[in-house]
Amino acid sequence: MGLTPWAAAAAVPALLIGVLLVLTGRRVRERRGLGAGGTVSLDAVTLRSRRFGLTGRPDRLIKTGGTVIPEEWKSARVLRPWHRAQMGVYFVLIEEELRTRPPHGFVTCGDGTRHRVENDEQLRAWVLDLAGRIRAARREPGEPLPVRPVPGQCRPCGMRPHCRQAKL
Ligand code: SF4
Repeated sequence: MGLTPWAAAAAVPALLIGVLLVLTGRRVRERRGLGAGGTVSLDAVTLRSRRFGLTGRPDRLIKTGGTVIPEEWKSARVLRPWHRAQMGVYFVLIEEELRTRPPHGFVTCGDGTRHRVENDEQLRAWVLDLAGRIRAARREPGEPLPVRPVPGQCRPCGMRPHCRQAKL
């Protein structure tokens, strides 16, 4: 069955708007340094692991190559160790909850540069060690977990007024 002239006239602008939205979305993604790939979630899924006592909410989950990888957006202009740690937490959480092991993830910094973080054994061991120490510290709430913040790290931290290890 063909379209009536009225329906055909209405369909053309709708199609154009759809194409425009796809192109605009792609341009916004590229401007923010975001990669291609099917978005599974945009800051909408909280992942939890009871086993490791971890929780995380990736900015974006992307379906690619038969698996799911996380993407995180940061205002910082350089990749920091704690950004890698956060990615490591997401890798563990995705594996636990979605039953797929992401080979890598991406951190997109404020200037649009995209940093690929590999899901290797070293990062996994570091993150699980940190998670274990945090779990142990939770069992001893009077004992703060020893940390070594780098200069500038504490300034924007919401815990600063209560933290005895803050460094300014
Ligand atoms: S203020 Fe305390 S909790 Fe916040 S970053 Fe610094 S050391 Fe860590």
